[in-house]
Amino acid sequence: MFDNYNRKIDYIRISVTDRCNLRCIYCMPEKGIKCLESKEILSYEEIIHLCENFAKIGISKVKITGGEPLVRKDLALLIKGIKNIKGINNITLTTNGILLEEQIDALADAGIDAINVSIDSLDKNTYKNITRVGNVDKVIRGINKVLEYKDIAVKINCVPIEGFNEKGILDVIKLAQNKNIHIRFIELMPIGFGKKINGISEDKIKKMINGRYGELIPHNKSIGNGPSKYYTLDNFQGKIGFISAVNHKFCDTCNRVRLTSNGFLKACLQFNEGQDLKSIIRNGKSDDELMEVIRKVIYDKPKENRFLDLNSSEKFEENIMSQIGG
Ligand code: SAM
Ligand code: SF4
Repeated sequence: MFDNYNRKIDYIRISVTDRCNLRCIYCMPEKGIKCLESKEILSYEEIIHLCENFAKIGISKVKITGGEPLVRKDLALLIKGIKNIKGINNITLTTNGILLEEQIDALADAGIDAINVSIDSLDKNTYKNITRVGNVDKVIRGINKVLEYKDIAVKINCVPIEGFNEKGILDVIKLAQNKNIHIRFIELMPIGFGKKINGISEDKIKKMINGRYGELIPHNKSIGNGPSKYYTLDNFQGKIGFISAVNHKFCDTCNRVRLTSNGFLKACLQFNEGQDLKSIIRNGKSDDELMEVIRKVIYDKPKENRFLDLNSSEKFEENIMSQIGG
């Protein structure tokens, strides 16, 4: 369906858990996080029921996210259930990749179309400093195992952070040199712990890339479901993308809404506007009543983010990124 600003909304990001096996500095605190109880989290049956209704209004693409989605038991069962819904023609996953090597076979069997792996550095120590607990070798093994499946597209998400991974950023690009993997640099957003850390601008990263690998040439075609602007580099198989929601915002072409693991349908990442769908389905309301609420949330989607105007009096999101799903 179309929202109030005539944007076609056909994509939903569904967070299946607020738990995670890492503690990235821009996303979660090191200790003391209070996670949702299992009864507060949507069951797989509830998520599938909601997806059937999302599909009826034209949502055709679903991204599974978290927290870390692979820490939720039997995730492949959910992927399979969503994949079977009439009208959903693309199901993808965003993961930190720690558990990929164990789970990729089941995910592939379930029909996953693409996997985005978040990896902010290939250097063991830097990766550990950012994630606080992670082992980058395990992630690389997982990525290599996904690449054995020719039908599953792989992209890398990398958040450049001042004072952490600046030096190693250019090494992450090497993953795209001889493999069909696209790298996307995600600008740090001032949400949750992201407010306390500085990112590195797209312009600066582009200059660094031009200096080492040659000129970035605009690709001018979209790849996948997201807002990334892609570039090619001579002698590279994969493309280099940038998702810069703060300084190069793309709200006029935004195609997505979000569902949190406790069932809150969010219209925009930065605002807390939306509706609690879990209460609606658990209170036995009809699908017609549910659809009316979903339509209203989508129709009322805010026009644009205000990342550059955090002092405004609007009601901004207070949850941290692991509770929203990115
Ligand atoms: N755990 C999974 C992962 O790391 O890919 C999925 C959830 S994570 C919240 C989704 C994406 O959001 C990751 O690529 C992560 O790097 C990104 N992210 C988290 N906090 C962010 C922030 N403040 N600004 C920009 N990206 C952020
Ligand atoms: Fe976990 Fe992903 Fe957040 Fe890192 S970015 S703490 S992996 S949810």
